[in-house]
Amino acid sequence: MANILKVLKGTKDILPQEIDMWHFVEKTADEVFSKYGFKEIRTPIIEVTELFARGVGDTTDIVNKEMYTFEKSDRSITLRPENTAGVVRSYIENGMSRLSSPVKLWYKGPMFRYERPQAGRQRQFHQVGVEMFGIKQPTADAEVILTAVNFLKALGLNDLEVELNSLGCPKCRDEFKNKLKAVLKPYLNDLCEDCQTRYEKNPLRLLDCKVEDCQKIYSKPEIQEVIMSDFLCDECREHYDELKLYLEKMGVKYSENKLLVRGLDYYNRTVFEIKSNNLGSQNAVAGGGRYDGLVGQLGGEPTPAIGFAMGMERLISLLPDRKSKNLDAYIVSNYTTDAFVFAQELREQGVNVEFDLANKKFTKQLEKASKVAKYALILGEDEISKHQVSIKNLEEGKQITVDRADCVKMLEL
Ligand code: ATP
Ligand code: MG
Repeated sequence: MANILKVLKGTKDILPQEIDMWHFVEKTADEVFSKYGFKEIRTPIIEVTELFARGVGDTTDIVNKEMYTFEKSDRSITLRPENTAGVVRSYIENGMSRLSSPVKLWYKGPMFRYERPQAGRQRQFHQVGVEMFGIKQPTADAEVILTAVNFLKALGLNDLEVELNSLGCPKCRDEFKNKLKAVLKPYLNDLCEDCQTRYEKNPLRLLDCKVEDCQKIYSKPEIQEVIMSDFLCDECREHYDELKLYLEKMGVKYSENKLLVRGLDYYNRTVFEIKSNNLGSQNAVAGGGRYDGLVGQLGGEPTPAIGFAMGMERLISLLPDRKSKNLDAYIVSNYTTDAFVFAQELREQGVNVEFDLANKKFTKQLEKASKVAKYALILGEDEISKHQVSIKNLEEGKQITVDRADCVKMLEL
């Protein structure tokens, strides 16, 4: 029998004592992304399966192994494993290409992938990300990477590494793919099953393989020579060089990694990851890149685009713990109606305040106040008759009595 008192494997509750961290990340995302001109978009968590098969790519692990897919009224529906495909769908469906470019969108929310749960890897996890449509110049690549870096800085995360690569365009990449296939041909039977499929369908992703035996083959000198070769055509080279120049001018430190090909099929030219040394083996905080072909591939007007996604759980695990906020004040009183009325007045003036709902003894109420609030607001017999309140600062122990109308301005909130 299913254990109904246990969350599903790979999923987690976000508990009240953790929620301040989430609010901090979400608020910072809103603030920083807004500064760069991004507007939030919220797309549905479910989409037709075909969107991901076509949008993410049917040679990816995400589409082949990791999707939560179910049938409803003869339609195949999937819980989104990532949000780029959904945002692109919405961009096309809502005619956003008619808006003045660039169209800059950001999102946050849960994603679902049927993966083996482990540290840093869940089946329901959260991403925050941005997508920018309409700009083919490397200024867009630089601005998107800068947005990511400055968001991480605003969270207080400075010691992260940006890794950069260019996958070229379909034209120059095809030549590279053919060279790679030719040099790997003698080893084809020694590659893992996944790599044998990749060899046919998406040879670039061979380089991404985590299997040791495959990596041994890829590190052979004749294969390294091809991997390390400069295959970019003039336009792609120029784009890449210009991006690097912008990053240098903006003081963004990066390292180049020829093996960085990213898991998704839709990238061209710029790809990047941001990594932390404090995350163990699942060390990527963010992944992104340019996907100039995707809007066209999904049925829209061909539109250059670039974006990134960050794992929120991984971000949060890097942040110092934030204490859950206490209440500003707790009303201590045996006069329930007065406490009710006073609490409401204070709330209308922006004070976070609670009072005893269960007729507890005065001393118990005071005990509770000292646990949850900064101030105890005491309405005893005297205070009630004079329409006053005694404010006790629970951190310093000082107590003063003032007119109730003056209460809020006496509180340091
Ligand atoms: P990984 O190599 O870690 O599997 P990925 O290439 O599958 O990453 P993306 O699809 O690029 O990841 O997603 C961007 C970010 O989302 C990752 O850098 C990571 O921080 C986060 N992420 C991806 N999958 C998971 C997961 N299963 N659980 C938690 N976070 C995840
Ligand atoms: Mg993955």
